[in-house]
Amino acid sequence: MPGAVLEDIDLAALRIIHSPDPRLAAPAQPLERVDDSVRRLADRMFELMAQAHGVGLAATQVGLAIQLFVATPSGEPTDRRVYVNPQLVSMDGRAEEEEGCLSVPGITCNVKRYKEVTIRATGLDGQEFQETGVDLAARVYQHETDHLAGMLILDRMGTVARLANRRAIRELEEGFAEGK
Ligand SMILES: [Zn+2]
Repeated sequence: MPGAVLEDIDLAALRIIHSPDPRLAAPAQPLERVDDSVRRLADRMFELMAQAHGVGLAATQVGLAIQLFVATPSGEPTDRRVYVNPQLVSMDGRAEEEEGCLSVPGITCNVKRYKEVTIRATGLDGQEFQETGVDLAARVYQHETDHLAGMLILDRMGTVARLANRRAIRELEEGFAEGK
């Protein structure tokens, strides 16, 4: 998405969208540069994430198909980090934990992830950085990069979890059909 288009976005009007909104399934495009419009978008996303008590929020979750997510991967609300054009560069170990998603309200399920992940991204200063996260941080990196590839926890759910959550899934579908 060119910067000019990003500058035209009404940040105050951005909302967290819910499954099955098709914008959640669209793969995100890389950002060409980090400028003030990106910094303003990240600020707004942190605001929406905090209001919803989340630890991560991808741009696709506010309807923007760009490679950016914000997170507090240590679980500490003041530890705000922004990842532009993120890539997972190494993964190790396995762990299964319960996960939820701000775009899939009312549903949690166990998701198998890598236990330790190294991510490379560009920060809001335009500099590339790399960091390694374990447990929660590694899970956040994987959950959010899944979003940027158009994938939700619903896509990682097994048959049993899907059955257990079938009512909540149906309610989401009905809510979307009614424009909620
Ligand atoms: Zn999510």
